[in-house]
Amino acid sequence: MFEALVTLCLGAAGAGSCREALLPGYAATTETGCRAALAARPPEIARDAAAPARCAPRRASRLAFDEVAPGVFAHRGEIAEPGPDNLGDVSNIAFVIGAAAVAVIDTGGSRAVGEEVYLAVRERSELPIAAVILTHMHPDHVFGAPPLAEAGAEIVGRAGLGRALSDRAGSYGEAFAALIGPAGFLGSRIPAPDREVAEDEAIDLGDRRLELRARPTAHTASDLTATDSATGILFTGDLVFAEHAPALDGSLRGWQAVLAAMRAEAAPLVVPGHGGPVLPWPDGGAALARYLDVLAADTRAALDAGRPLSAAARTIGQGEAANWRLFDLYNARNATVAYTELEWE
Ligand SMILES: [Zn+2]
Repeated sequence: MFEALVTLCLGAAGAGSCREALLPGYAATTETGCRAALAARPPEIARDAAAPARCAPRRASRLAFDEVAPGVFAHRGEIAEPGPDNLGDVSNIAFVIGAAAVAVIDTGGSRAVGEEVYLAVRERSELPIAAVILTHMHPDHVFGAPPLAEAGAEIVGRAGLGRALSDRAGSYGEAFAALIGPAGFLGSRIPAPDREVAEDEAIDLGDRRLELRARPTAHTASDLTATDSATGILFTGDLVFAEHAPALDGSLRGWQAVLAAMRAEAAPLVVPGHGGPVLPWPDGGAALARYLDVLAADTRAALDAGRPLSAAARTIGQGEAANWRLFDLYNARNATVAYTELEWE
């Protein structure tokens, strides 16, 4: 197969300031076919490029995916902050191949990662990529979605995701461009969902379905889970963290309740948002449940003692420090969110 490519550059082309971007949606069995598709429908992203888009044989993906159950593939994102070395490959990504179509769950933190996800799917299947399911609004999960949409996928998220993303598009873009570096981040933009799920819906992949469930505010206010009907595997997004310090951006009490409800749901394995990439269930949620309980207990103790937020944020949750990587990057902010929420109890 042949794929379309374009070299994107920052301003004038120069060393280290360009990135070769893949343009899904122009794939063809011959180079002539790929070129004809480019001529018929010139890609918007290539409009300002120094050289026109071109076609080349499809290459292998740089992302490793393991087949964790029949037809279910999972990639473990690095336990790290987004940076030039990982290009935002810091959250888990999965895809499910059915008899008629493929669905992708989360997409990594830059367009470059999303392009690699597309190539990883295509190494295993030429079936249509019907849907990209975004488990929540966080930038490390969504910036990779546009190239998959260009390949034909419908972008699906929880009700409210589109508004949450458009409200944060500027700040997420600036933050990730700074972390990853503007060259590696070239072409990245916040996606807009094509479909929002308010309660329960399913995506039909032929011989299996992905059953989507909108969750109440927990990790964020846009949490959506998916269950594969064929294997029972539950894709939790960041409603489950392993190894990587949890990040609270919704409601502490809500997250405790949603996690408890999910742990009562039968699943042979879950794919968490970070760590794993598969965990046994419900045991795989135990460490996070404990962390959230410690966060709540420490916060209530600080409030009962009348300690101000500035002092409390330095101590709340510290007993968990040894149990998580990147702890100091996240815990103080979690403590602040918890304090602000629980002071109104
Ligand atoms: Zn998240």
